[in-house]
Amino acid sequence: MKHLENEPVLSQNVLEALPGAVALIDDHGVIGAVNQRLSVLTGYEREDLVGQDIAVILPDLDRQASCVARRNRVGAKASAPAPLDQQLAISCRDGSSQLVTCSFSQFDLEGKLWIIVAINDNAAQRAAEVARGIAEDRSAQVEAAAAAAVAQSEQRFRLAFEGNMAPMVFSNQDGTFLEVNDSYCKMTGHSREELVGNDSKHFTYPEDIGITENVTRRLNSGETDQVRYTKRFLHKNGRIVVAEVSVCSARDEGGKTIYFVSSVRDITEERALSTQLSYQALHDPLTGLANRALFDDRLEQAKARVIRQGDLGAVLLLDLDDFKGVNDAYGHLVGDQLLIMIAHRFETVTRSSDTICRFGGDEFLYLAEGLSSDAEAEKIAERLLGALSEPFRFDGVSIDQHASIGIVVWDNTSTHTNNVELVQNADASMYEAKRQGHGHLVVFTPDIRLEAVSRFALVQELRQALALGQLEMHYQPIIDLTTTEVVGFESLMRWQHPERGWVPPDVFIPLAEQSDLILELGAFAMHESVMAASLWEPQGPRAVSPYVTVNLSAHQFHDPNLVAMIESEIAQAGLAPERLVLEVTERVALHDIAETLVIMDQLNRLGIGVALDDFGTGYSSLSYLAALNPKIIKIDQSFVRPKHDQGRSNTLLEAIVTLGNKLDMIVLAEGVETPAQLERLHDLHCDLGQGFLWSPAVPNEEAITMLGEASDT
Ligand code: C2E
Ligand code: CA
Ligand code: CA
Repeated sequence: MKHLENEPVLSQNVLEALPGAVALIDDHGVIGAVNQRLSVLTGYEREDLVGQDIAVILPDLDRQASCVARRNRVGAKASAPAPLDQQLAISCRDGSSQLVTCSFSQFDLEGKLWIIVAINDNAAQRAAEVARGIAEDRSAQVEAAAAAAVAQSEQRFRLAFEGNMAPMVFSNQDGTFLEVNDSYCKMTGHSREELVGNDSKHFTYPEDIGITENVTRRLNSGETDQVRYTKRFLHKNGRIVVAEVSVCSARDEGGKTIYFVSSVRDITEERALSTQLSYQALHDPLTGLANRALFDDRLEQAKARVIRQGDLGAVLLLDLDDFKGVNDAYGHLVGDQLLIMIAHRFETVTRSSDTICRFGGDEFLYLAEGLSSDAEAEKIAERLLGALSEPFRFDGVSIDQHASIGIVVWDNTSTHTNNVELVQNADASMYEAKRQGHGHLVVFTPDIRLEAVSRFALVQELRQALALGQLEMHYQPIIDLTTTEVVGFESLMRWQHPERGWVPPDVFIPLAEQSDLILELGAFAMHESVMAASLWEPQGPRAVSPYVTVNLSAHQFHDPNLVAMIESEIAQAGLAPERLVLEVTERVALHDIAETLVIMDQLNRLGIGVALDDFGTGYSSLSYLAALNPKIIKIDQSFVRPKHDQGRSNTLLEAIVTLGNKLDMIVLAEGVETPAQLERLHDLHCDLGQGFLWSPAVPNEEAITMLGEASDT
């Protein structure tokens, strides 16, 4: 067959591409080639057959084949021979045989005759015959072989049906079970006797009876012959079995459905797993609230509904105030537990139409729908804030936790805003709320967006400001209230912006604090201040040189390079360490007391003092004051110039001064503007004062002049 195999028209590839099982024989009935389908059908390998007589697989063919060949040889060149169809029994390797339809066609290749035997195993037809148990009349010639083939096929089919791992069932057009296999019994928990003759409805989960009826109707109508669908069965023990069902209809010659064959796959566990997985994919693992992905999905739906219904929707972004403090003070386990409790409280005030989601860390998003005014959104925000009003008590601790909320309300004219923008706007509003202090809520307005955009632009510009020389340190004198001497200066940063003019540090320092930029600014402040102080001459009768107090941000205070950086700066400037004081706010110092104590110890050893800034504005100030033992406490301006409740502020001012004196700390009053305020501080025996009464912060040249004038008088 070498010759034949090399022939491109009849290469093995061509044989394989033919739709059915094929054998190629010569005019003596010797097999020249077979395709893979024939091997599958007969169980013989290609090598078993090539070179053998075709009688090995088609024992009845002998006579016919030669007949065909002869007949075709006569008219070979004259006309194309019509293929002849014969019903024959094919013998398989395992000794079984089955009825097949063979068609023969011949061709002439270089004077040699070849016959193509195409074999159709009638699979579909056979299945129908077997199931119906009807063997059709055949020609007398093949009847015996056909009967044997049907019997064998039936046996094979039974084995396949009974022994099938997949639950299988035969049912009639009304859904009555005709036959079930063992796997089906096992899946439903019912015996064969309980199933056969019964309506499948009784074993279907009630809610899914409609689905099943619909499938039956489609198959009965002839609309389709095969349907795959998912339904739930009711197991005998009451358990629900989720299954994927493939159902085919068998029709009689008139096209009428005579029965259905269904093959079933139990997907209960698969479903449970995927439900679990999709739950996990859409929920926050800690609190069980919706996560960002689910929120986005709900937001999309909400936007569509708002367009349809013409009402209002709202997104609320809620950020816990100072939550990091809880983690730092009590550890992450307590922090996590608090988040879970907070989530539960939020859930109790979440309306059924709304979604509350954990946005990450200590931020939550609330999606509200069907609102008729901004005020309603504010009411929801108030309810959320109200849910936090009671302290959280657990594990022997009681924690007060508040939050700030930014609100964006939208209607069907503004739904074009994408999800990211909506949340950004809520975030910008939340930023505003934080600026107003803890526990506030702010509704978004376009101004807030502008504000946020310009804030962003400002950060970009601030990055350049240092290099462009737009930043400068100014110095505000600190006065000894007894001697009126200038004992030191607080260094305060100034940004001279080319277009905006003077940008106050209250604006740009918090922006820088959101990134490492603050470290660069802090290093600049330290360098400038230390250099400036090295130029200040000794003052007063005791000839003591003034010190400089430098503000440290939280970021800087926790920077592991802080002490080394300071050490190198004072060494370079030749400044005595006691002439440098670091200002740390009470809030920063109390954040992580243990760490603060370590840093303060390192600074003390270098001889550098610490001033506790904005004293009196934190919440647990007094209890930690003794432990921290700062050199100076700076009483916050709000006590010196109280806006309201003067009486209470005065009492507090007195208490703080007395306490500081008792603890041997230097007490400094900030923001002194009037002689009356000065007099009162004097009476209280406050040590030092700082404020516009004497001077605002000034450039270093002016500070030096100020010192010169003071020593002249
Ligand atoms: P602060 O540390 O509490 O600084 C005192 C602020 O009060 C300064 O504002 C000062 O100009 C102002 N002030 C002083 N006396 C009076 C007075 O009599 N009346 C009134 N109304 N205000 C007075 P400034 O310079 O605007 O700084 C604001 C804040 O920015 C500072 O508050 C500090 O927290 C921060 N800051 C300034 N410079 C730096 C710096 O170099 N590094 C860091 N980390 N923060 C800085
Ligand atoms: Ca300060
Ligand atoms: Ca201060």
